[in-house]
Formats: sequence, C-alpha cells, structure tokens
Amino acid sequence: MDASRFTFHVSDARFSAFALTADAVSATSKRLEKLAILAEYLAPLGDADLSVACRFLSGQPFPPSDERTLNVGFSMASTVLIELSGVDPHEYGQLVVRLGDMGDVAERIMPPQPVEAGEPITLQSALAAFEQLASTRGTGNKAVLLRNLLAKATPPEAKYLVKLVTGDMRMGLKESLVEEALARMAGMGVAEIQRVNMLVGDVGETALMSRHGRLGEATMRLFHPLKFMLATPAEKPDDILAEARNRGETQLYVEDKYDGVRAQLHKQGERAELYSRTLDPVTNRFPEVTSALLALPHDAIFDGEIVALSGEIESRCLPFAALQKRMGRKTVSEALMAEVPVACMIFDLLYLDGEVLLDQPLSRRKALLAGLDLRYPLVRATSQLVPVEVFEEEARAGADEDVDDVEEVQEHPLDSMFNAARDRGNEGLMVKTSGSIYSPGKRGKAWLKVKRALATLDVVVTAVEWGHGKRRDMLSDYTFAVLGPEGNLLNVGKAYSGLTDAEIIEMTEWFKAHTVRDFGRVRLVEPLMVIEVAFDKIQPSARHKSGYALRFPRIARLRPDKRPQDASTLDEVRAIAET
Ligand code: AMP
Repeated sequence: MDASRFTFHVSDARFSAFALTADAVSATSKRLEKLAILAEYLAPLGDADLSVACRFLSGQPFPPSDERTLNVGFSMASTVLIELSGVDPHEYGQLVVRLGDMGDVAERIMPPQPVEAGEPITLQSALAAFEQLASTRGTGNKAVLLRNLLAKATPPEAKYLVKLVTGDMRMGLKESLVEEALARMAGMGVAEIQRVNMLVGDVGETALMSRHGRLGEATMRLFHPLKFMLATPAEKPDDILAEARNRGETQLYVEDKYDGVRAQLHKQGERAELYSRTLDPVTNRFPEVTSALLALPHDAIFDGEIVALSGEIESRCLPFAALQKRMGRKTVSEALMAEVPVACMIFDLLYLDGEVLLDQPLSRRKALLAGLDLRYPLVRATSQLVPVEVFEEEARAGADEDVDDVEEVQEHPLDSMFNAARDRGNEGLMVKTSGSIYSPGKRGKAWLKVKRALATLDVVVTAVEWGHGKRRDMLSDYTFAVLGPEGNLLNVGKAYSGLTDAEIIEMTEWFKAHTVRDFGRVRLVEPLMVIEVAFDKIQPSARHKSGYALRFPRIARLRPDKRPQDASTLDEVRAIAET
C-alpha cells in the first residue's frame, strides 16, 4: 500500500482516522512504510489524543498499570454484533471460524452506515465508553453499553472497537512498532524510547515524554509491573558451555527451577503488591507473602516464584497442582492458607531504594539480594555460582574406564545438580550468566532452563470433544496447537484429559462458554486456553497442518498463567523432533 495515500495534515481525533491508519499499517508488510504511516497519523494529534492513540494501537484500552478490565467476552460481543447486523447466527458462526477474528467478522457484517446516527466516534469518546464498560457490573448492563457504542460505528470502526474490547489486538499490531514510530518522530534511536516505556510502563505516557523532551526524567515507577525475563530451553551441558564461552563468562549461577507461579513483588513505603506472569495483580491471593514484603525495611522490586510447600521452610516444594487450589480464589481464608502454605522463592532484585538495577550484572543483583534480611515466607532461591568447566562433557570422569562397575561411573556434575533439585521437589535447573542484565519481556540465552526427562510443550486448545463412558457429559478430549511463524495456530495433537474430574467439569463449563462453533460431537473453541502437555516423542505427520504430531500426549496441567501468545512455537516442536 502506498503510504502517501494516508496523509493526516491536521490533527484527526476521529476514531475513523484511527481505523484507517490501523488498516493501512496492516496492509503493508514493509516495516518502513508501517512506520511512515504511523508517524504521519500520530504527529499532528494533540497530547491527550496522542497518548490514547498510542495505547489503542498497541491493543491497550487502558495503560497496562491500570487495573481496570473491560470483561467483554466472546459471547457478549457476539450477541451484540448479531443483534445490530441482523445476520443469521449460523452464518455468524461460520464467519468466525473462517475469519478467525471477531473484529474482522464485525467489519464484514455491520451495515455500511451506522445503525444509529449521531456524533462521530472520537478517540476520547471511545475511551470514555471503555471506562464506562469497565466500571459497569453485570453482563446485561455491559451489553447495553457495548451495543450503544457499536450502533454508532461504521464497519471499520466496529472492527477495531471489537478488537480492543475483546483484547484481540495484541497479536496484531505490536507495541514495539509504536515505539519505533515514536523514535522516528523524535529523530532518535529506538533504544531510549524502549527504556523509558519499560520504566513508566505506558506507551501513551512515553509518547508524551518524548514529544516534550522529558525522556531523561523517566524513573522506575513502582506498582506497575515490568515484563518478565524469560528463559530458553537447553538440552545438554554443551549448550550451556557454548553460551557461557560465547559471553566470556567464567562462572554461572545454577538455581533450582521451581514449579509454581511467577511473581513480581513491589514494595514501597507502606504499600506492597504482587503481580502475576500475565502482569495482573495477585496481592490478595498471597496475604502471607504480602505481609512479609511489607515488613522489609527497603523499597524494592523482586522477581521470584511462589510455590506450595509441604510444611516448614526446609521442606519439599509440592507439585503445581497443590498451588492451583489457591490460584482460583480472589481472597484466601485462614483455613486455605493453613492447608496450602506457600513461600516465595526470590531469585532476582530489579530495584532497591531508588536504584534501578535492570542494567546491572546479575552478580551485583545477587550480591545486593544476599545483603537483604528477608522474612519468611520470602526465601532466597537456592543458587550457586559454578565454574563453567563443570559443563564440559570431559567432566564425566571415569565414565569409560570401568563400564561394568556401575557404581564407579560418575555422574556428570550437571546431572547431580539436576537430581538434587528434583529431590527438593523442583522441576529442574535454571542456569544464568553472571554478567547478564535483566531484559524484561525477552526470551534470551542469558537464562537457560534445564528440564530434561520431562519434555513438555505449552499448547493452545483449539477444539474439544465429548468424552466416553463416565466422561460422556464432559468436554474432556482436547485438540491443541502451537504457534506458527506468523503467530497463527497449528494443531499438533489431541489428548484425553489427564486432569482431575473437578478440573474437567470446570473446563467443560469454560469451553461451553467459549464455543465458536458446535458440530455436535466436536466443538471449535476460542483459542485462549493454554495447557502444558507431556509426550513421548514428536513424529512427522501429514494429518496436521503443522506437519508434526505428538506421540502419546498427556495433559500435565492447565496453564492459566500463560496467554496464547506465550505458547510453544513450531520451531520448538521442530527442534525436539530433530533431536
Ligand atoms: P517455563 O514456564 O517452562 O517457560 O519456564 C520458565 C519459568 O520458570 C519462569 O517463567 C518462572 O516462572 C519459572 N522459574 C522457576 N524457577 C526459576 C528461577 N530460579 N529463575 C527463573 N525462573 C524460574
């Protein structure tokens, strides 16, 4: 698409201009053209509109630190769209399956002229409508508000309003593209914009700071979660060694990989909050962790993993299933706290008393962490500094000398560390380079995870089927997919549930509410539920679009902490298949 066709010489605060811009950006695959279109649209906007437009373009109705949620589900949006468009519900279902995106369906079925005449929708009136939706309780009341908003929309406007309210824009236009456009507008490199956006946690505010030359003033703001740093799987000691040599590291931190839920802990003065991996506040679910945090005589941000314990501090961690009892509740009773005691294993320190530590080497972050007096159930994670030579395969001393005498065969040191971690009830190991900085939201090789013996993939459920026998009234068989190169979903297998009956019943209700198309025995469902599957191996398969099929897949657990875009990728599947 020719970028010059989209010229916004004057500030255009109408939502139609936003929709036109978003369409133009997705119509071209050329990055530079995308940036030119964005910059052209954003530059003339007034301050208030600029920040809203930047957030909307990143798929965020509100700043990420804002705890409000719209809670507009698939079925509410569908009911409203069917009513306004008058389209046959069956045809609607078919369109959803075919287009795979409700926003695109909305654009297709809404009448060319808005159902109700009135003032055109603007960025600010859309924001006001979202705020009203967020503060209104009850599905019926919310549906009326959504209806009133969409009744005034043209088809392209409806498309982006639906994407924004259902949270489906995340996979499309990325925040990073908006950051690049801002950098271009300011005539600077993108790194500084990214740094500030990470610190203030709001691309809308970052845009204003950039426009007014205030980027230098950005400081870490507590109580808005930073994205979490992620790890890359490593299969062999060699992988770890190669990475360490690559970075010129002589020592590595080896930590237990805990099987719980990731948490970011913020403490400043009299306030403490916990955030989940999806950046949602989970403070109320872990009151004992919060009180220990409040007792800390410092302001800090920690990264850690909350685990369920079988008893007191030295005891073993319990499997993830135990923790799930606590995850489902918004508030936690004394009885439940006693039944499922938790601890937060702290492995990183991102901020301490005014100093941002993200750009500091891990060794310094660890040293500062070691100096803090943490009160139980805040616990420093098991972590040891190990020379890189340990990861050389030759360390398998004596392995070939006396193969008949099994007792004489020494384990590779990595194996013994791995087994020790497993004996403590943990999943495996994390190996981290000591010079590495903390890179929010990045899955790099500075952190490697070793969970051998247990190959699992995080997959998205795309279809469900009624079970057999005593499970005939439950949707218990799941077809699931991994992420393809464009973020598209590619099926790789089908598993009969390894979940408990209680979980299957809950899942059955969830899948009923998120059915896209009901074929009787099989239902296509909204691809939102992430589960972790274990399997024996991966084989090439002509039956699945992915080209692969898992052999003997079993559901290891539900992953409500992960979003579809966090699922495993086709590349990971291919890599496992090839080993
Ligand atoms: P995975 O969920 O398999 O991608 O593994 C990465 C996850 O392991 C992280 O998101 C954390 O929730 C968890 N984890 C457990 N222990 C650690 C640790 N010591 N360091 C970093 N992450 C850890």
